[in-house]
Amino acid sequence: GVVMERILRRKSLQLRSQQQDWQDSLEGQKMIEFRRSLPAYKERDTLLRAISENQVVVVSGETGCGKTTQLPQYIFESEIEAARGATCSIICTQPRRISAMAVSERVAAERGEKIGESVGYKVRLEGIKGRDTRLLFCTTGVLLRRLLVDRDLNGVTHVIVDEIHERGMNEDFLLIVLKELLPRRPDLRLILMSATLNAELFSSYFGGAPMLHIPGFTHPVRAHFLENILEMTKYRLTPYNQIDDYGQEKMWKIQKQTFRKRKSQIASAVEDALETADFKGYSHRTSESMACWNPDSVGFNLIEHVLCHICKNERPGAVLVFMTGWDDINCLKDQLQAHPLLGDPGRVLVLACHGSMASSEQRLIFDKPPDGVRKIVLATNMAETSITINDVVYVIDCGKAKETSYDALNNTPCLLPSWISKAAARQRRGRAGRIQPGECYHLYPRCVYDAFADYQSPELLRTPLQSLCLQIKSLELGSISEFLSRALQPPEPLSVQNAIDYLKTIGALDENENLTVLGCHLSMLPVEPKLGKMLILGSIFKCLDPIMTVVAGLSVRDPFLMPYDKKDLADTAKSQFSAREFSDHLALVQAYEGWKDAEKDQSGYEYCWRNFLSAQTLKAIDSLRKQFFSLLKDTGLIDHNRESCTTWSHDRHLVRSIICAGLFPGVCSVVNKEKSIMLKTMEDGQVLLYSNSVNAQEPKIPFPWLVFNEKVKVNAVFLRDSTAVSDSMLLLFGGKISRGGLDGHLKMLDGYLEFFMKPSLTDTYLCLKRELEELIQS
Ligand code: ADP
Ligand code: MG
Repeated sequence: GVVMERILRRKSLQLRSQQQDWQDSLEGQKMIEFRRSLPAYKERDTLLRAISENQVVVVSGETGCGKTTQLPQYIFESEIEAARGATCSIICTQPRRISAMAVSERVAAERGEKIGESVGYKVRLEGIKGRDTRLLFCTTGVLLRRLLVDRDLNGVTHVIVDEIHERGMNEDFLLIVLKELLPRRPDLRLILMSATLNAELFSSYFGGAPMLHIPGFTHPVRAHFLENILEMTKYRLTPYNQIDDYGQEKMWKIQKQTFRKRKSQIASAVEDALETADFKGYSHRTSESMACWNPDSVGFNLIEHVLCHICKNERPGAVLVFMTGWDDINCLKDQLQAHPLLGDPGRVLVLACHGSMASSEQRLIFDKPPDGVRKIVLATNMAETSITINDVVYVIDCGKAKETSYDALNNTPCLLPSWISKAAARQRRGRAGRIQPGECYHLYPRCVYDAFADYQSPELLRTPLQSLCLQIKSLELGSISEFLSRALQPPEPLSVQNAIDYLKTIGALDENENLTVLGCHLSMLPVEPKLGKMLILGSIFKCLDPIMTVVAGLSVRDPFLMPYDKKDLADTAKSQFSAREFSDHLALVQAYEGWKDAEKDQSGYEYCWRNFLSAQTLKAIDSLRKQFFSLLKDTGLIDHNRESCTTWSHDRHLVRSIICAGLFPGVCSVVNKEKSIMLKTMEDGQVLLYSNSVNAQEPKIPFPWLVFNEKVKVNAVFLRDSTAVSDSMLLLFGGKISRGGLDGHLKMLDGYLEFFMKPSLTDTYLCLKRELEELIQS
């Protein structure tokens, strides 16, 4: 003990002198100068005092004032100055991987260090931190998983929860856990940071914790709404292209329907605005098919037009464009590349900013472009608060963000771009006034803005809660419903019940809501329960190689590209991978394995090009597979000495069965009709397939069932990625694999037998049962 103490003391003193050396160096001086110019610096002492005097403090301040990069550093520096550098442990959570990585890199640089020394980061499945890392930036999920094994956060001195105004599900969850932990750890300090001024909510949740505000300075930003944008940029809304008329008309109708379903006030405001502005001319182009068509996406042509207007007529300054998603961003980027002015690299630099970009690309976003070149950054709502690009003078705001919502009544998640809140619109606008007065182009009419909600609703109230419920159980936090009722804003009881039912169905919880062995393993894997189940079964049944590809594909994104102008060719290419296996998942395995082979003789890119595949996504899948493998080794599910699992089974039927085990109860029955295929699920009745599914191109599916990964409600319920399975696969692998034996398992499927009334299923069931009985008797 004494020796240890002495070592730590020496380390602390060492840290102090290192810090001093850096601050005295020329580069360090420059950095200090920059850091002192940030608004947070003026509040440094007040903040530190409040933190030392109170267990919980809520800090708010304009984005860019220095909360994320400075406040954790202030705490760290003051600990170092007090010779506690080697004993403090500061954790700062971020809602997104990319911000955890970017911020830690920045903070390390500000301290004149490399990442992994005293500053590190940890995000799902990767991270850089060393033995001496004392300031750790991690995603909220990582901290939650640490709580699994370390319920009291032993050794942690400060927890900083950033971006709480976003009200993400993990953050709300973490707050319930921390609230319960604080009395047990009176020395632990909790700091909550928010970009907006709704601090009261959080303060009162923690019994009236003190609130501190960092006053920031931003330059005024002029807001333009659609009405005057059209006038100013002389944009002519053109009538429909005659050839496209039908498709557009149809989309247009769906769009109106979608609006109608929303809050009626928004709907009517939007419709009025659409009438007056003649939105019909808005040319909708997305990379996606009709079913995935994003009914709310903004016309790319209008964005292009405004960008052109800025480049031709306005002062220098970077442009930040807020869009809804990765697909749209890439699609617009391609469109701009073909433009005579915007595609000219000597004059314009177009960058995409999204969660999965490489860090070299990331740096370009912060860097000043060469003289005479205008930087245009296409971003999702991530750039609203977690990332600050200083030289932005112009903001283009499409008014939408992709938001998961959850229809508890139908137990169906929906992912739709929806209107942002007034707070978010204000936030986006503010991004233009960092260094000089700016301009913001809101691509929607003023009356639409007026109808926006004040704040976005918390994620806990609009997403499926399965993973969360599993976590509550594995953290031994008691009854799920009781626990969630203590949230800042508790979710609906029906949503909670649906999640519990799901976990019982897949066998992660038993009848009394206790964690089963499977549930226990699942909570340890950082993927959704259904994907975790596939990994576990893939290990047990020794067919992990293809299963890891399927799981990686489902947790990254689809590598099959859907170029809007070559959709047919792309669909054909994809269906060739399926080779009449009637499975999108097996097609993915095939495509991935082909790519691996092509990589061996350096023709990976050509292979991707030929087959409409995204090399970037395949690479991501590849690295995720490696991570899964080492993770499964760590958890002891596969043999430690095994170097690779490529020699394991690739048997299609086995793989199909395991996919079925994971995706159950996502199952629909297949009825081949004369000219079409009729698909039905128990909850929704008739459902449709996304047009890019290999099964959507088949005139007949010679299997009685399809298991699917995801259904999304747009105007109808659509199934994404599906795999055909047989009766016996469903009977043997659907539902829980329980120790209770096959018999109990088969009984559980009675509901299915009754509902679908498939004679073949009943036959297989009886047959299996008979065999089982014979087996028991012998
Ligand atoms: P807040 O959390 O209050 O929004 P930050 O601490 O993220 O503010 O940012 C403070 C300042 O540091 C901003 O001016 C921002 O531009 C700058 N900054 C943050 N990250 C980087 C980076 N990676 N490179 C350069 N400057 C950065
Ligand atoms: Mg921040």
